[in-house]
Amino acid sequence: MPLETELITPAGYKVLVNTGLFINNEFVPGANTIETINPSTGKVITSVQAAEEEQVNLAVDAAEKAFYGGWKTSNPRERSRLMNKLADLVERDAEDLAQLEALDNGKPFGFSYAVEIPLILSHLRYYAGFCDKLHGKVIETQGKLSYTVHEPIGVCGGIVPWNVGMVLLTWKVAPAICCGNTVVVKSSEVTPLSALKFSALVKEAGFPPGVINIITGYGLKAGEALARHMKVGKISFTGSLSTGRAIMKAAAESNLKKVTLELGGKSPNIIFDDVENLDEAVWFSINGIYSIGGQVCFGGSRIYVQEGIYDTFLEKFKAMAASRKVGDPFQDKGTEQGPQASEIQFKRVMDYIESGKAEGATCYHGGKAKEGTDGYFIEPTIFTDVTPDMKIMKEEIFGPVVAISKFKDVDDVVAQANNTTYGLAAGVFTSNVKRAVTISNALEAGTVWVNCYMLVDSNTPFGGYKQSGFGREGGEDCLKDYTQIKSIKINI
Ligand code: NAD
Repeated sequence: MPLETELITPAGYKVLVNTGLFINNEFVPGANTIETINPSTGKVITSVQAAEEEQVNLAVDAAEKAFYGGWKTSNPRERSRLMNKLADLVERDAEDLAQLEALDNGKPFGFSYAVEIPLILSHLRYYAGFCDKLHGKVIETQGKLSYTVHEPIGVCGGIVPWNVGMVLLTWKVAPAICCGNTVVVKSSEVTPLSALKFSALVKEAGFPPGVINIITGYGLKAGEALARHMKVGKISFTGSLSTGRAIMKAAAESNLKKVTLELGGKSPNIIFDDVENLDEAVWFSINGIYSIGGQVCFGGSRIYVQEGIYDTFLEKFKAMAASRKVGDPFQDKGTEQGPQASEIQFKRVMDYIESGKAEGATCYHGGKAKEGTDGYFIEPTIFTDVTPDMKIMKEEIFGPVVAISKFKDVDDVVAQANNTTYGLAAGVFTSNVKRAVTISNALEAGTVWVNCYMLVDSNTPFGGYKQSGFGREGGEDCLKDYTQIKSIKINI
């Protein structure tokens, strides 16, 4: 059965994709197939091969063989060369990858091209630069020589969601292989296409077979098999809280593999009345919640505005939300928001909107599906008159829905902002430096943005407090999660 297929996007752009499972540098058939849907139309794009336990075993065996067959002890500079080569190929084929994300996920092509591709490139190149910089320490111990070495773990598993799957795939692969590990990453069954294109680039870059394996499959089949696999030494998961719990359970019940979890959020975004540039704060806040249709883990979904500027902020925010162009992801310039990525996600978000109305919040703007289309489009939505006990204030909606509330002072807003089980990110807008520092320290979140929002960079750690997970991606700190430290003590 030929697994290669040519896809033509609504923009008339042609991309060749191999729909097989990428194992041992070959595209191979799976246990069954999954239809992937274009969320702008609700129509099937194509079918891709799906892994179950048998194919997961094949992928892990290939990764194990590659690990012991030379990658573990490979020259760091060769690892770096291959990673830089892969980055160059991603840069060359950036348009293919961004077209596939727009087709499969529905995010605007321009966003994928201008935001996601640079994040992938910077991650590959940042960790390529780290391959020969993994240092241990020399420690004097009772007159003997002791030193530490940072060794790779072995086969690392990665499981990624559908919202920014292509970026997160690289975020699992780059630090893992930089340290001399090999990987098996499962892409989301909802958006497998860009991962397949990326797989072909791995082969073209010249990585030895088995170092990077990329599979697609359902969570309860392929994901569970990977999380329970006895030969997988570490699993890095990005996705929902409930799946994160299942991954920890699987790790605990199998080989106690190391786990890192990047989970959901309910991030507060705080606007003080001394903000220097209110229009800029509105712009950041709009993008902080509505980018990729609100399907962003660190989306600023609870906005708190100080009493004195509440009305002005609300009017400006509403005007910008109302003028936001929701529609065809392939319109290069115009579109700011595409559809929700799947029908399930669309229904989930619409249910939250209904629950907000039913619980007595005011739907101040939006709150409806976009009319006249079969796609999963939802208007940018604003709720006011919200209370902390409402579902829309407590649970992650993962859609274009924001709740805007008032606050009095620092103590009041810190208490409200921290009143969540999540702790992924937070935003603060103020011109007072002392207040910015004080409140950044008080917020229980892994990232705090001051006078900006959504600034993500490969050289800074990203991860959660509380139930947003543990472990860090990005920055030097991430490498601790992909190595184990050995102490060697020599009696000279
Ligand atoms: P999800 O948890 O449903 O699925 C994520 C991945 O896990 C998919 O590949 C899925 O197939 C797999 N999976 C599902 N059940 C599994 C199981 N029992 N065992 C192993 N794997 C399983 O999440 P989603 O709906 O794809 O993504 C949305 C969630 O991801 C949101 O909660 C969002 O906040 C979170 N997210 C977090 C970050 C972060 O960095 N913190 C980034 C992006 C998305």
